[in-house]
Amino acid sequence: MVSINFYGDYHTHSRYSDGRQSVDAIVEAAVSRGLLEVAITDHGPLAAVIGVKKPESYLAVKEKISRIQSRYPGIRILLGAEANIRDLSGTLDLEEDIIEELDILIVGLHPYTWPGSIQDGWNLMVRNSLRHLGSKFRKEAVEANTKAIIAALNRYPQIDILSHPGLFFKIHIEEVAWACKIKQVLFEINCAHKYPPISDIIEANRVGVKFIINSDAHFPESVGNLDYGSWIVEKLGINRERIANRRSGGGYKEWSKKTKDYAYS
Ligand SMILES: [Zn+2]
Ligand SMILES: [Zn+2]
Repeated sequence: MVSINFYGDYHTHSRYSDGRQSVDAIVEAAVSRGLLEVAITDHGPLAAVIGVKKPESYLAVKEKISRIQSRYPGIRILLGAEANIRDLSGTLDLEEDIIEELDILIVGLHPYTWPGSIQDGWNLMVRNSLRHLGSKFRKEAVEANTKAIIAALNRYPQIDILSHPGLFFKIHIEEVAWACKIKQVLFEINCAHKYPPISDIIEANRVGVKFIINSDAHFPESVGNLDYGSWIVEKLGINRERIANRRSGGGYKEWSKKTKDYAYS
């Protein structure tokens, strides 16, 4: 297999959320993989059990990064978050003041995220737990999930990456791919969950999204392990120019919304 040379890994979890690794361990693992950038992207606070304890945890990670960055001159350490989409209007579980502190913003749907209200909980979370009951419920769940993601993409111009599209929550892949393309949000190929499945990646590729291949590492051994994504790209013959974090892509400044003035005021 001809593996792709990567610039960075932009999705990892530290002990501040559900990772089993310190920020230092993530950075050291990324250095040993030869990466030039790595992002610490802990789960938003409202995903039960897996989330950061409080929104201010990101400020603690930021402080930590600024303290250790000079020890690792060969790599840029970025602060990110994997925020949770909470309801059908796309509300995230991070306030704008925290989002502004981040270098990159990932969003995704995760089970057991506290909804904004009982009605929101029914619309998103309960519908998803009923999807096994039959095609009517399944169809409603797919519509709700798709609507929630598209609403978030429309509402927050800061979003850089949609994590593992369709994992845990089934979606209409073509509609979501179009929204990603229009909003210039990177469509993630997630190596930890080996998700999305090949058929969905083919569909997204047909729409013309830009992909990012991330580890979603919770352990140091997984940081920078992007083999699954390399394999998919190779197998499907996806144009390397479509992979945002390929080595020749130039790093996060080439695609992050924060570095583009139209997204942040
Ligand atoms: Zn996730
Ligand atoms: Zn994650």
